[in-house]
Amino acid sequence: MEQGKLFVLSGPSGAGKGTICKEIVRREKIGLSVSMTTRAPRGEEKHGKSYYFVSEEEFQKNIDEGGFLEYAKIYGHSYGTPKKLVLGQLSKGKDIILEIEMQGAFQVKNVYPEGILIFVLPPSLAELRKRLIARGTEDEEDILIRQQATLNEIALIHDYDYYVINDELEQAVDKVRSIIKAEHSKVDKNVDRLIRKYEEEL
Ligand code: 5GP
Repeated sequence: MEQGKLFVLSGPSGAGKGTICKEIVRREKIGLSVSMTTRAPRGEEKHGKSYYFVSEEEFQKNIDEGGFLEYAKIYGHSYGTPKKLVLGQLSKGKDIILEIEMQGAFQVKNVYPEGILIFVLPPSLAELRKRLIARGTEDEEDILIRQQATLNEIALIHDYDYYVINDELEQAVDKVRSIIKAEHSKVDKNVDRLIRKYEEEL
């Protein structure tokens, strides 16, 4: 069976990759990987839907057992992508999307080079600043640190396959959908199956 494709939406925090990801999952036939985290649930978040909320011990146990495709620590909390679930779905031919931060995205590329990395950019640092202020979780100093961090992260874009500027949500979502479509017409190892199909006709 043809292997599904793994899309990784990543990029600086505040660029809006979460919102884009939600829209993609709503409109495309693609599975969303639910991550494991040690942070506490916020608001309406549900276990098994937003995240698998686990203890530090449980998270560590998963690391020890090699259960993560990738994992990272972000602002004091651990986040990881359950390996078995993702690889299982891909082997059944299902496309999967991950919405993760950048350290994790690079790990995915290392262990699963066929993964397609999409970098989501904020339209500008000023806009990023506006979004962070609106979120209300950071003070002025934090915001400046974030902006510098964003600049450093943008410099890593060369290791990605695609980029999408999240200026207008609809357009950004369309762009990601086009990338998914294009990747399905890409000449990769799946074309061997296509060649065989033509051979069998003779
Ligand atoms: P939040 O705590 O706001 O839900 O997420 C914080 C950050 O963690 C976001 O940038 C999100 O993309 C990232 N994240 C969520 N799940 C994972 C994961 O499984 N692995 C990695 N590396 N990052 C994740």
